[in-house]
Amino acid sequence: MKTEIITIGDELLIGQTTDTNSQWMARHLSNHGIQVTRITSLPDQLEVIVEAFSQAAGRSDVVVITGGLGPTQDDVTRQAITRFFEVEWRMNADVYRRLKNYLAQRGYEVSNLNRDQAKTPDGARVFVNRVGTAPAMGLEKQGCWFYFLPGVPPEMRALIMSSILPELSSRGESKHYLYNMVLTQGLPEAHLAEKLKDYEQQLPQHLMLAYLPGEGLVRLRLSGRDADHNRLKGDLEQWLSRLKELILPYIVYVGDEPLERLIGRLLVERQQSLATGESCTGGIIAGLITSVAGSSRYFKGSVVAYSNQVKMSMLKVSAKTLEQHGAVSQQLVEEMARGTRKTFGSDYAVSVSGIAGPGGGTAQKGVGTTWIAVAGPDAKIQTRLYHFGHDRELNIRKTANTALVMLKRLISDEI
Ligand code: AMP
Ligand code: MG
Repeated sequence: MKTEIITIGDELLIGQTTDTNSQWMARHLSNHGIQVTRITSLPDQLEVIVEAFSQAAGRSDVVVITGGLGPTQDDVTRQAITRFFEVEWRMNADVYRRLKNYLAQRGYEVSNLNRDQAKTPDGARVFVNRVGTAPAMGLEKQGCWFYFLPGVPPEMRALIMSSILPELSSRGESKHYLYNMVLTQGLPEAHLAEKLKDYEQQLPQHLMLAYLPGEGLVRLRLSGRDADHNRLKGDLEQWLSRLKELILPYIVYVGDEPLERLIGRLLVERQQSLATGESCTGGIIAGLITSVAGSSRYFKGSVVAYSNQVKMSMLKVSAKTLEQHGAVSQQLVEEMARGTRKTFGSDYAVSVSGIAGPGGGTAQKGVGTTWIAVAGPDAKIQTRLYHFGHDRELNIRKTANTALVMLKRLISDEI
């Protein structure tokens, strides 16, 4: 069942609103075995929209559309429906009653514009919107089903879950879609691909390997589509274990969980705590760690030790080390990591010091030079030097991600 997504709204094309609807729908449709074959964003322009509907009807079985259903002048999706499906709109008593109740509960009367929202096209399937005013509608043309949803994300999500997914699942064959994510670190995408060249060639038709490079990390997605769920699961397991054999030293873990959440889980399991002492990342590592709900159970705090003075006073770094080795050195990050553990009384500490750029590089220590240390109980400490690139933003993100990988490995005794 070929399924397209079309999102409509000028705000998407001028970069004012990020098209999160497409991303969310693509994920949920795919997870339900529905193959999304195309995603398009369109402006609020009648001719452009009608033309896109016509093309979509010619190549797809299902089109899911969001946006432009509002009652105001700037939204033209309703007019496009009239034009393309050649339908009349009629007051829908059921939708009107719900709309009136919905507004009354919020202390509003039904306005003329609202009244228009209660009109639905003749012959349309209508799906109740419990979290807003505009219903979702389904219309068929040339054997292709079009589902129209409001653009407001919570309304779209509620309608997809309650109405569209069940509707699509009952319509036509849907193959199961399963995937495994593998987080790798230490090899750039092209080098990984080199190691996996033969493997990829041997992969059976219904399985696929995709590379998703991030900052300092590469995620691999081994996915497959098959009518038989158990057979697909077995095939994926078999090919995943072959994949693991080929790139084992570079695998951080197998799973979809963000690294910071995995670290949180490991620390909760072990009843251990963490603190960070950050120079060049300016608190980004602490930010990632605390983005996880419940992180107060294991995260003690962070010192953004940007100046040498703060490194000395808060993280117990010695003036002598700073003088002899400089702020970006192995000796210094190690002292920072140990000092962070002491200052916070934590089991683990992460510390980073580097030259994020664009200025500040020297002949010996160029921009991107970064030291990372992770320290744990029993005087365990691991320190590594990295040479990241020249982009400040990227250097900071790579440093933070790499530090989390090192921390994960130290906590789970892999280094
Ligand atoms: P509309 O249905 O066109 O009236 O859109 C209502 C609101 O929903 C817009 O102002 C946006 O804030 C939001 N919205 C519309 N389309 C999208 C989209 N594709 N992704 C995220 N938000 C959207
Ligand atoms: Mg709009």
